[in-house]
Amino acid sequence: MYVTHLECPKCGTVFDHRKVVQLCQNCAAPLLVRYDLKKIKNKFRKKRLKHRIYNLWRYKEFLPIKNEKNIVSLGEVITPLLKLKNLGKTLGFKHLYLKDEGLNPGGSFKSRGAAVGISRAKELNVKSFAMPTNGNAGAAWAIYAAKAGIEANIVMPKDAPLITRSECAGAGAKLYLVNGLINDAGKIVAKAVRQYGMMDASTLKEPYRIEGKKTMGFEIVEQFGWKIPDVILYPTGGGVGLIGIYKALLELREIGIIDVLPRLVAVQAQNCAPIVKAYENGQKESVFWENAKTVAFGITVPKALGDFLVLDAIYKTDGTAVSVSDEDILKYKLLLAGSEGLFICPEGAATAAAAHKLLEKGWIKPKEKVVLLNTGSGLKYFDTIKPNPPILDINDEIVYPL
Ligand SMILES: *Cc1c(COP(=O)(O)O)cnc(C)c1O
Ligand SMILES: [Zn+2]
Repeated sequence: MYVTHLECPKCGTVFDHRKVVQLCQNCAAPLLVRYDLKKIKNKFRKKRLKHRIYNLWRYKEFLPIKNEKNIVSLGEVITPLLKLKNLGKTLGFKHLYLKDEGLNPGGSFKSRGAAVGISRAKELNVKSFAMPTNGNAGAAWAIYAAKAGIEANIVMPKDAPLITRSECAGAGAKLYLVNGLINDAGKIVAKAVRQYGMMDASTLKEPYRIEGKKTMGFEIVEQFGWKIPDVILYPTGGGVGLIGIYKALLELREIGIIDVLPRLVAVQAQNCAPIVKAYENGQKESVFWENAKTVAFGITVPKALGDFLVLDAIYKTDGTAVSVSDEDILKYKLLLAGSEGLFICPEGAATAAAAHKLLEKGWIKPKEKVVLLNTGSGLKYFDTIKPNPPILDINDEIVYPL
């Protein structure tokens, strides 16, 4: 393993990665895992990947697991990077792609964070953890915890997608609902953690979830033949995915595999857009968003702990932040299903709406390579499409078209 230490991106304080450390004990910022990139640079050869397992563990030099025996795997996959020829043509893109994270175990990209987070927790001998979630993270951590034999305590808003409740309960997690949003769930978790001394697995309160999510960045670059696309759009809630992709890109640049970076775009919903507002005001941190509500439940995060890292990634890559309406989210969700056969989640659909908006503004050029991240399977949100087909009796005359 090439991990050297944990580091606070705000004040620079260094911590021992061999212990369970949560936030920076000096300034309470999230910690980042640091590697000996010089050593990795000397050892890492792209062509060696050819013979490796075809999932995120192929990037093992950049992952924080010392003993491979501690890896907890549910059969992760390299998710497909699909060219959206039909939709691209309709909207005016020459090279529009979608990375479909819906094919991960548990149906969302949250399993990347859980795979690495739980594996590292096992390695550090963690026996139980608590986490607030908008649903998918709790579900992903619950299934990996079940396999690892670690106790999971999950708190989610009572409005979170029903299926994520079933996933947690089915995997044997201790599940609690809160009459509020994810930040309210977070307050309950903080209390439980103080009282019972379990690990706090809240977004960015343990450093290893980012390491799992950053593998999306490695995959995108490898799938483009070790080259970068021009723009990556990401539906941003807590922002871990975007922070992770940015971290992966910086690590690849550091070891000389890429030189320039793609522009990173944080996409949010109009009724919960704290990062967009901060970006528009040129600020380094966001302000708590009151009365947050959107169909894209996974990105209903009124104030993210890692907001400053998201904004930094946007500024440093000449990226941007855009919000889209719920109406557009549902419209583009149908457009993707109807033109590409992709049943994606509302969060993913938000990136399609945002990309189109940016193309129309001229911020994205028609020839640029654009990647939409679909963070989860549409099957988890089956009720966002409400068909009303006629019910036929076998004796009815068939009226065509319906
Ligand atoms: C959690 C989640 C997001 C937001 O991810 P962050 O990394 O927290 O910004 C987006 N889409 C879906 C489906 C999610 O479950
Ligand atoms: Zn600090």
